[in-house]
Amino acid sequence: MSATLDSSEMPQVAKNNAGTPSNNIVNKTFSDKKKDNDNNSRLNNIIKVKSVIPRKRQDLLKWYGWGYKDSMFKLQGDMAYFTGNRYSIGEKPLPHLQKWAVDYFNIDTNKPPKIPKLPTSYPESRLPGNVKQELEKIAPVSVDGLDRLIRAHGQTLKDISYVRTNKFPRIPDAVIWPNSHEQVVQIVESASRHRFVIIPFGGGTSVSGAVTCPAKERRPILVLDTSEMNSILWLDKEQLLARIQVKILSGFIYYIL
Ligand SMILES: Cc1cc2nc3c(=O)[nH]c(=O)nc-3n(C[C@H](O)[C@H](O)[C@H](O)COP(=O)(O)OP(=O)(O)OC[C@H]3O[C@@H](n4cnc5c(N)ncnc54)[C@H](O)[C@@H]3O)c2cc1C
Repeated sequence: MSATLDSSEMPQVAKNNAGTPSNNIVNKTFSDKKKDNDNNSRLNNIIKVKSVIPRKRQDLLKWYGWGYKDSMFKLQGDMAYFTGNRYSIGEKPLPHLQKWAVDYFNIDTNKPPKIPKLPTSYPESRLPGNVKQELEKIAPVSVDGLDRLIRAHGQTLKDISYVRTNKFPRIPDAVIWPNSHEQVVQIVESASRHRFVIIPFGGGTSVSGAVTCPAKERRPILVLDTSEMNSILWLDKEQLLARIQVKILSGFIYYIL
């Protein structure tokens, strides 16, 4: 999948513990890094990239389907256009789109799109209170219904049909946002102690049912949202190696390095 990024969308590079911009890591060699590690200053090397996906994904992305909230095809009179400026077709007239959509999909362009209403209730979270408290000590946790619903699925047609009609037989019981390997280890240890299930969640774009909650799962389900795992941990310019957390988008890595 590809996305066009412009500089206004580029992430902010966090400052290191010493208060100086930490992108000076690009000049570090393996031996520098070893020296740094020997001096126990490895943390100073971490480049933290601001997450493009907020914890409230629904503030940025459509909760009931695919894509950004502000990006959609619209008709103005006979002319179609695409809203927003995230993509190169943004706000440009698309004179042939309407006829093409009608010819190929038999769309009635007089009917407004059906945007489903937000569910008014959600299944109660099965995560026991003491486990939630334990997890909260590790990383931010949410048991909010919508936070859980939008992470109950990928992007198959069935997924989208279910989310629009609130038909999921099972949704996660909580969401957690770790930002380090150590936190993930602690979460897994907690799962093993308290016998709950973890489903890692990246973009939620799976089309194989991989992030869909198993309907018959009786144990609590915790979604481990990786959207805050977005640091460059180290870069070895000499050997052209880097250790990068899972959720940095490739375009951003290119921009930063
Ligand atoms: C419009 C569209 C176009 C697509 N185009 C392509 C394409 O061109 N090529 C292609 O290969 N795929 C494509 N896909 C499929 C999808 O994008 C890929 O499967 C993608 O790699 C899923 O990544 P994700 O981060 O969204 O994973 P998710 O959907 O969040 O998760 C997928 C699986 O990986 C697990 N997982 C997620 N993160 C981690 C982690 N850090 N550690 C361990 N397990 C993890 C999840 O638990 C789940 O089992 C497309 C999907 C859509 C909707």
